[in-house]
Amino acid sequence: MFGGDILFTQRFLKSLGFYTGILDGLFGPLTDKANVLFENKYDEIADKMGRFDKRSETIIATLHPKSQELAREFLKKIQNSGILGTVVIKLISGTRNYAEQAALFAQGRTTSGKIVTNAGPGESNHNFGIAWDVGLFKGTDFLEDSPLYAKVGQEGKKISSLAWGGDFQSFVDRPHFQVKNSLTLKQIRAKFEKGESYLS
Ligand SMILES: [Zn+2]
Repeated sequence: MFGGDILFTQRFLKSLGFYTGILDGLFGPLTDKANVLFENKYDEIADKMGRFDKRSETIIATLHPKSQELAREFLKKIQNSGILGTVVIKLISGTRNYAEQAALFAQGRTTSGKIVTNAGPGESNHNFGIAWDVGLFKGTDFLEDSPLYAKVGQEGKKISSLAWGGDFQSFVDRPHFQVKNSLTLKQIRAKFEKGESYLS
């Protein structure tokens, strides 16, 4: 779970009320139990709202439950809108632990590839289970750059609790969606690291 990062897992599951132990980064029965409760919640939401393709499901399974519901509402809305024609939408990125965020931040800076984020560890909504990125596919081809991303953005943000990365001022990120929150990212991070609720 979460790249095998136990402390990250405990923080996340404690903020959801599923983990009741201390934040010690050690795997034990309470962490195990919390994981089961989290997986049960995923099943409950999926049963209620419907399931999607395997890749999207793998991503949804990493999200905050509130975010899981929104992701399912979002996918259903995009699919039913008819804007994609024969193109298929999938969720391709969800929750990242801090180490995974650090590796992504390094890309295009100290490692190869192009810069894909300005957010370091603990600075992205992806680190708290409240953001996802979509990918568009034609058959097996991944469409990296398509005007359809803008259409998906316009359609997706009709869901009032979602913000679209295409509207970001600093770093336009068209595949990105996140859950709106009255807290700042700094406040969310502080609560997350203490295992406190940061999203109702
Ligand atoms: Zn993103």
